[in-house]
Amino acid sequence: MKYYVLFGPPGAGKGTQAGSMVERYHLCHLSTGELLRSEIAAGTELGKQAKALIEAGNLVPDEVVEGMIEAKFKSTGGVNGFLLDGFPRTIAQAQALDRMLENTAEKVTACISIMIPDSLIQERIAHRATIEGRADDARPEVVENRIKTYHAKTEPLIEYYKNAGRYQEIDGVGTIDEVRERIFSVMDRF
Ligand code: ADP
Repeated sequence: MKYYVLFGPPGAGKGTQAGSMVERYHLCHLSTGELLRSEIAAGTELGKQAKALIEAGNLVPDEVVEGMIEAKFKSTGGVNGFLLDGFPRTIAQAQALDRMLENTAEKVTACISIMIPDSLIQERIAHRATIEGRADDARPEVVENRIKTYHAKTEPLIEYYKNAGRYQEIDGVGTIDEVRERIFSVMDRF
């Protein structure tokens, strides 16, 4: 099984690129953001807890997303692997993922990191807000906090995956097609 971590700041284009990646490599797309948004839409207890955190631009607790991911690993079959989108987002989550995979003697295949500068993050999210209507995209101070959270809690994962020899950086500036071709040329090697 392949386990790809799709990494990048908010607005880097992870969700946009994920569709063609899962299709080409027959992967299951697991987006913690999407899973959490469907819990909110369904009005579950978990969704209620997550809503306030997400709408303030904060992360939900590690145990919550770790539990969601582990459950999906167990219940999903018939694929060549997984594309983890938005997970891990903290060092603790990355360590938890490594432990989950150790149980079945597996490892993260690669961390595919789509990089864009902060200035472009703001621009892309402002644009997405007019299209998708996500509550956490609409308010500039929330976007600001998500970028801050990314730098403080998520960016250290770059070193984590570099140290593990798993880090593959993709330039996320360009058209959707250009970025997709860059991603494919890296993933074709695994
Ligand atoms: P984006 O990639 O645009 O930042 P996502 O859809 O991946 O947005 O996630 C939206 C929100 O869901 C995050 O800002 C965070 O509050 C929450 N979330 C998603 N994944 C995680 C995670 N792995 N750990 C903690 N919180 C998460």
